[in-house]
Amino acid sequence: MKLALSRVHFPVTTLGPGRRLGIWLQGCSIRCPGCISSDTWAKRTPDVEVSNLLEQLDCWLQECEGVTISGGEPFEQADALEQLLYGIRERTAVSVLVYSGLPLEELRQHTVVMRGLVDCLISDPFDVHMKQSKYLRGSDNQRMTCMTPLGQRVFGSLDREQADTDRQLDVMFDDNGEVWLVGVPSRGDMQRLKSVLAGQGTSLTTTEARS
Ligand code: SF4
Repeated sequence: MKLALSRVHFPVTTLGPGRRLGIWLQGCSIRCPGCISSDTWAKRTPDVEVSNLLEQLDCWLQECEGVTISGGEPFEQADALEQLLYGIRERTAVSVLVYSGLPLEELRQHTVVMRGLVDCLISDPFDVHMKQSKYLRGSDNQRMTCMTPLGQRVFGSLDREQADTDRQLDVMFDDNGEVWLVGVPSRGDMQRLKSVLAGQGTSLTTTEARS
């Protein structure tokens, strides 16, 4: 089973509690206006063997305090997502948070969710016209739902308003001089950072979760 992968980052500290392994899948047909992850929209032929990916992630899976999966729209690769999540469950007992732009009602029917492979879901499409006041979410229509007892233990107290101390982003630099911004940025953060970096000859790419 192969999947289309966008990227992987470790550690990610801004998409759920603890030092998490962040996995972004490539491809999203939802295309919410105002999405700033448009680099993950394009469909690509799946070319990463899930078993190979799990092998490569194994050292981080032993070290991380949680896994966060986003996109793109992860459920548009449902079979590969399911295999990936089974592999993660075999290797670690940490919590799995999945972002999706699909409605919660649809996701609840999904076998990936019904089989208990997702501890917490952040669902529903990003809406640029809604206010943004909730922790871990880009717009307030997005729902955080605990799907397992582990999800309830880890995320049960986190369905709350965003505090000032939550307004953090992981910033990573790659060998090409590109900057990756990881987290849920506040409105306007992107433009402000792009302007600063453009003045220094550096481009910015985002890896935020807004699905
Ligand atoms: S916010 Fe998420 S669901 Fe919406 S277009 Fe962007 S990647 Fe797709």
